[in-house]
Amino acid sequence: MTEQIIDIKSLNKFFRKTQVLTDINLSIQPGEVVAIIGPSGAGKSTLLRCINFLEEPSSGNVYFMGKEVQQKSSELDTLCRDIGMVFQNFNLFPHYSVLKNITLVPVALGLLSKTEANETAVRLLERVGLGDKKDAHPQSLSGGQKQRVAIARALAMNPKVMLFDEPTSALDPEMVGEVLAVMKQLAVDGMTMVIVTHEMAFAREVADRVVYMESGNLVEVSDAAGFFAQPKTDSAKRFLSRVL
Ligand code: ADP
Ligand code: MG
Repeated sequence: MTEQIIDIKSLNKFFRKTQVLTDINLSIQPGEVVAIIGPSGAGKSTLLRCINFLEEPSSGNVYFMGKEVQQKSSELDTLCRDIGMVFQNFNLFPHYSVLKNITLVPVALGLLSKTEANETAVRLLERVGLGDKKDAHPQSLSGGQKQRVAIARALAMNPKVMLFDEPTSALDPEMVGEVLAVMKQLAVDGMTMVIVTHEMAFAREVADRVVYMESGNLVEVSDAAGFFAQPKTDSAKRFLSRVL
């Protein structure tokens, strides 16, 4: 049996008395690309944040590469480095150059020397099609370019998994494609990815599996081709008929 890279067992999450995730069970294999879709408020971001330990489950367990992770775990910092996260709003440091945005954390944590970090950053910028932007500042970049820098920055930590929370939702339509192309290439290169997205064509083309969430529940987990050809549940059918 292949070892799961992420294994979520019976996860429940409450904010005060409101339950936002209910009995979530989900395993993700190395190299798998999983798209999480569903209406706003379904709990998609909260689920990603539980995988990334930004939120603590109210009950249940999250295992990362076979290890149970708890917020007070002494290994939490190490584990977090192995999980890259890309947000809707880029979260770049506005006062630093593109190069410094990418090198800052790996150098500060002592993971890479300054020279290694610079070389890595230049290589990653080329990989996301921004080889000429290392000295630029974020405010001079388009949204699509900023998001590609954010992806390069996450990759500089050499993560084992990349989580994306609506990475193209804040972009002008003409910039969506360039970011999805970078993500698609990452998937082709074998990166394990969990992607919350409203880009159904992308999910259909790139994801191996689709998770459909509604009201804090995993309503349907299917292979992507099957999901889009014939969703099993009426709620997924209704959702698709609204968004496709
Ligand atoms: P989605 O990403 O699918 O839109 P979220 O995970 O952001 O959904 O939110 C799920 C539910 O949890 C929503 O009802 C939201 O209002 C609530 N929620 C999210 N974060 C918090 C928080 N920090 N405190 C209280 N409620 C929250
Ligand atoms: Mg969200």
